[in-house]
Amino acid sequence: MSKSKGYAASAAKAPLAPFTFERREPREHDVVIEIKYCGICHSDIHQARNEWNEYQEEVIFPMVPGHEIAGVVTAVGNNVTKYKVGDKVGVGCFVDSCRTCDECKRGLEQYCTVKTVWTYNARDNDNAPTYGGYSDRIVVDENYVLRMPANLPLDACAPLLCAGITLYSPLKHWKAGPGKRVAIIGLGGLGHMGVKIGHALGAEVTVLSQSLKKQADGKRLGADHFYATSDPETFTKLKGYFDLIINTVSAQIDWNEYLNLLRVDGSMVLVGLPERDIPVGAFALTGGRRSLAGSQIGGIRETQEMLDFCGKHGLTCDIEVVTIQKVNEAYERVLKSDVRYRFVIDMATL
Ligand code: NAP
Ligand code: ZN
Ligand code: ZN
Repeated sequence: MSKSKGYAASAAKAPLAPFTFERREPREHDVVIEIKYCGICHSDIHQARNEWNEYQEEVIFPMVPGHEIAGVVTAVGNNVTKYKVGDKVGVGCFVDSCRTCDECKRGLEQYCTVKTVWTYNARDNDNAPTYGGYSDRIVVDENYVLRMPANLPLDACAPLLCAGITLYSPLKHWKAGPGKRVAIIGLGGLGHMGVKIGHALGAEVTVLSQSLKKQADGKRLGADHFYATSDPETFTKLKGYFDLIINTVSAQIDWNEYLNLLRVDGSMVLVGLPERDIPVGAFALTGGRRSLAGSQIGGIRETQEMLDFCGKHGLTCDIEVVTIQKVNEAYERVLKSDVRYRFVIDMATL
């Protein structure tokens, strides 16, 4: 074991503070990564504040959050073949899985039927707690490490590891592309990547935001249309319009209202994760043979595909780089939607 430093929440709702802990020595297939940057995902806040406890078997404190990890390889185990010292690599929301179930074999490790080992607030296959990316380094099996785009800056690519793949995966699965009308609800960390990727895939993209404050940004990011959901007119004007709606909002919003914006056979996909269940009316679905679905990040293969796609199209996240000492302040600003559009921690400040 060797010492690592990071920032941790010592208990639910406690502010994050410096924390020292142990990381395992690299095994034969492990890669040691010096973390350069880590994005702040809204999920980090949900977990550090224990807002999902109803849906989780175990919650582990002290908790070092962070699953948008970008860094450089500093050492490799004896049998590592995919990476070498000096490579620019990333780690997303999970660091292992069972590797043998049907879903793992299909490259859908995020839906492993045995156990997806989440990057933090989880236990690895040896039962040791996992600690995330608000830290100086991480040790991960090479099969769960991603290669970062060579032509793009590491800081602005870090959030691709969660925000990027969480939108890329459903956009691809539900076939966003030319001739498809796609709406993104919420222009935050996830939403702004949905706009960029949806646009790059050739779909017509509409942002549904609480107000028109971010309209100019939305258009710059690639949106064709922008509507305020605080304006009731939006819901009459856009009734039956979209093929696909991706909801990135974690607040309690009325899903039925949004389902009515789908055309026949349209789908609304949930990626935002509210604390509590939200009722769905049957008529909102039956009235247009509509589907309500959900999606969770993406597998390793698809995450690499997304990173390569972003490299090819020059897509990065719009970020505000912060010091680790400002992490609690950054959390408050995320909660107020006061971020354009992702905070990324510069780990050199640790
Ligand atoms: P974020 O940056 O805070 O963005 C959320 C956006 O939702 C805000 O920018 C805001 O957009 C909108 N919003 C906020 N409060 C709202 C309210 N009261 N009513 C309506 N809209 C509101 O968060 P994020 O990092 O993108 O994450 C969003 C959600 O996705 C979180 O629940 C997170 O845990 C979850 N998540 C899920 C996955 C997955 O795999 N499914 C992966 C990562 C994150 P406007 O200002 O434009 O309205
Ligand atoms: Zn995330
Ligand atoms: Zn599995």
